[in-house]
Amino acid sequence: MHVTAETTATSDIQAREARHVLQTYRRFPVAFVRGEGVRLFDAEGKSYLDLLSGIGVAALGNASPRIAEAIAAQARELAHTSNLFFHPLQGQLADRLTRASGLGRAFFCNSGSEANEACLKFARRYWYTRGEPRAEFVGFDHAFAGRTFGSLSMTWDEHYRTPFAPLLAGVTHAPADNPAALDQIVTNKTAAIMVEPIQGEGGVRPISPALAKAIEAACARTGALLIADEIQCGIGRTGQMFAYPALGLTPDLVSIAKAIGGGFPVGAALVADPVAATIAAGDHGTTFGGNLLACRAALAVLDALEGGLLDHVAKMGPIMEQGLKAMVARLGIDAEVRGKGLMWGVDLKRDAGAVVTAGLARGLVVNRTSGSVIRLLPAYVITEAEIAEGIALLEGAIADALGGAHG
Ligand SMILES: *Cc1c(COP(=O)(O)O)cnc(C)c1O
Repeated sequence: MHVTAETTATSDIQAREARHVLQTYRRFPVAFVRGEGVRLFDAEGKSYLDLLSGIGVAALGNASPRIAEAIAAQARELAHTSNLFFHPLQGQLADRLTRASGLGRAFFCNSGSEANEACLKFARRYWYTRGEPRAEFVGFDHAFAGRTFGSLSMTWDEHYRTPFAPLLAGVTHAPADNPAALDQIVTNKTAAIMVEPIQGEGGVRPISPALAKAIEAACARTGALLIADEIQCGIGRTGQMFAYPALGLTPDLVSIAKAIGGGFPVGAALVADPVAATIAAGDHGTTFGGNLLACRAALAVLDALEGGLLDHVAKMGPIMEQGLKAMVARLGIDAEVRGKGLMWGVDLKRDAGAVVTAGLARGLVVNRTSGSVIRLLPAYVITEAEIAEGIALLEGAIADALGGAHG
């Protein structure tokens, strides 16, 4: 039997998955089959305003014609050749990313976890080549770095870690709210410090200027490399190409993924020249990484960003911030609004799960992270009117979920 997404009911989709898909996800009972910009449509045809864009991935919007055309045209030309051979697009994409970041080289992979994994390996390789092997890494509480063993080792949440112990030895999570602690924690054995300039999964927590300063000082004192995890906050999300320069951070390695592919799985580690010089042929690799389809999708995203979309995000940021703060004031709740650009968290300081469910009922897609935080990562193409519409829906969802309990 031929089954299409459009003609299959949500209950059938759920039933089929329940039989044979490994049950690693607790999904909401919604099946999306079509998208258009900041809209999503489920299997029953119900429309949703999407303020999540697939966790910050569909940067140009759902079913973006630019991404669709780039991938389709490339697929007709040539999709994949492996990394045994040259193709014309990796160099073009690397050129664009290195100019945007100031880091000299790019390594391409397929996800955020892989990008962080590559950064950790390159940091170890750097110290090994220098004849002074350093094994230790320093991360921060509330960090999320991914699910592979290396990236999981840098992830803070014990729920993700404990069932898979032992993880990488020599990893310390420093308290993000105590910059002075780095004086003791970062030593001449530290290979690298890894930090998200704005922690995403951990509750949309921007790191403080004081912590940024302490990180730079610790790196200068010990020679430890700095890895900026820009997988969620980078590639235009904050209204700037990367989030680290605004904090005065000068990373040696930058990991990117999520938005760079516009929906196509793309990751990359950007590597400063002194580290890049220590990496030899054969040290690291991947079959899929940087294939033609991935590079074409990423180039389309960068074209859009440089063609005015980055400025648009910078303009929408304060509008979204003011809108969310006004919403909190109207609701009269004790909530904190944190973020920048089109990356926002509304910390309700109590379990926010019911808000997501109430949002879906009203036709709104948002996410809860870190228990109490409603996370908003809309597509970069969102308009002022759509932001207002989204915030009105969110206000209703919060009121539904908190009922008479607030105030
Ligand atoms: C999503 C994310 C990752 C992991 O990326 P995957 O593509 O899920 O492997 C790592 N770091 C940050 C900051 C992320 O937001």
